[in-house]
Formats: sequence, C-alpha cells, structure tokens
Amino acid sequence: MDHIVRATADNEHIRAFAATTKDLTETARKSHNTSPVVTAALGRLLTAGAMMGIMMKGDEDVLTLSIRGEGAMQGLTVTADSKGNVKGYPLEPLVLLPPREGDHKLDVGGAIGRGTLRVIKDLGLKEPYIGEVDLVTGEIADDLTYYFAQSEQIPSTVGLGVLMNKNNTVAAAGGFIVQLMPGVADPVIDALEANLKKVTSVTELLAQGKTPEEMLELLLDGLGMTVLDTSPAAFKCDCSPARIERALLAAGREELQHMVEEGREIEMVCSFCGKKYIVSVDELKKLLRY
Ligand SMILES: [Zn+2]
Repeated sequence: MDHIVRATADNEHIRAFAATTKDLTETARKSHNTSPVVTAALGRLLTAGAMMGIMMKGDEDVLTLSIRGEGAMQGLTVTADSKGNVKGYPLEPLVLLPPREGDHKLDVGGAIGRGTLRVIKDLGLKEPYIGEVDLVTGEIADDLTYYFAQSEQIPSTVGLGVLMNKNNTVAAAGGFIVQLMPGVADPVIDALEANLKKVTSVTELLAQGKTPEEMLELLLDGLGMTVLDTSPAAFKCDCSPARIERALLAAGREELQHMVEEGREIEMVCSFCGKKYIVSVDELKKLLRY
C-alpha cells in the first residue's frame, strides 16, 4: 500500500522522507488516461506533493504544486493535504515523445519544456505562501531541489521515479526528499553525499523492489537514522455536487441564465479526477434562485 516514511538522522540535523506511490500514480493514470511520459510526470509530481504535504502541520493546510511549460504537456497541477492525500492533473494528457537519447528514459523534461514551478502553501494565514522558480530541467526532481534551495533556503536532494509496465500501467513509483537543517557538520554532508552517489536513480531502487524504509537506510547509512512515523498516501479527490454548483455560480448569473434559456442539461468534469457531473435544467434554475 502507498505510504510515506518520515525519518531524521544526525540528531535531527537531517530530515528525510521516502514514499511508495504506485497505487496513487496508477489511479491518476486511469483517471486522466495519460500517455506514458505524462504518467511519469504526474506520478513524480504527485509523489513530491504527498511528501511535501505531510511537511505541513495543520489539518486544513493545502499545498499546490503547479508547473507550466512551453512543451507539449503544457504543465501539470498537484494539490496535497497534510495527511498524505493528493490529487492532480496534466494540462495535456496524451503527449507522445520518443525516449531520451542515451538512457532511453521517458522524456519528461522534453514534454514539459522550459517554464516555471510554483509552490503555493495555504497554511490558514491571511495570505498563502507562494514560491516560484524557473525550471532547471523539467525533470521535476531537479526542479524541486532548486526550489528548496532558492525559495526555502533548505539544501535538499529530491529523487522521484515512476516505472512502467510494458502495457503502460504503473509498475512502481516513489521517491525521497532529504534535507539539511541548520548546524549540520561538514563530515556529515560528505557522508550523505557519498551515500547519494551510491544511489544511481530512484527508478533503479524501485526496480530492485526497495521499500521507502530501505531507501532511507541506503541514503542515511551510517548517519544515525531514526524512523519517526509512517503515513498512508492516496489519490483522493474532494469534488462533490456542492463544489460543482459553487463552480457554476462562480461562472456568474448571466452565464447560468443563458444555460437555462438554452434548456440543456450540462456536463461538468472535475479536472482533478475526471469525474463527470450532470447538472439538469431544474438544478440550474434552483441555483439561479439563490
Ligand atoms: Zn474530482
């Protein structure tokens, strides 16, 4: 089952997260009928979102990761809460690109192209926190590493991976985030870097069947790791008829009036999970009376 493991090492000078996210990535793939390169991109961003979500403290806190690029995928958006629930969608789900030259991996960076990564944290304060950086490679993990350094001033290493079956379903997905807290000593950084060098890629670890706990043991080897807790992770959308009605109302009374006059029921699709909602003319009329 999908879950996130949270750990510390070197007397809390290092904090780390690792996740296995095959089921939620497969749910996202089915919901949006994504092509392999888009499945990989969405799975990576969902995995990062799930881990960054549980970094937040409040029950009502919401994290949004939004990538916009000049490539064929155009971008993707992921939203996470602080309990391991994530949802997300690509702007263009059916991008097909040849594999990258050299390593023959899915060309996520090519599908996204040049662009920006935006991180929005709604922590229940007056204004949400917004951090934005230019994409470094569009491969997502590198871009988040850059974001943590630039916007949050937290030296971090992010690794994300999605492994596909031959029939384009998701075989495995997961990732890690390792962060250095203030006061970490140089020899500890050297030891961590040596560990990171041994880890070729997350995809490789996933192919070997490594669990999040085992990934952390490799990354934090010799650094006094303590596992703090394990949280379940899932693709979960909170859309509902009431939310759809609010979205319709937001379109404006004039627009609603127009829909009623046309006398046709309308179909609304939740962009996060693809669920369809039919709103009848009677329901539209009821909305107009509010
Ligand atoms: Zn939905």
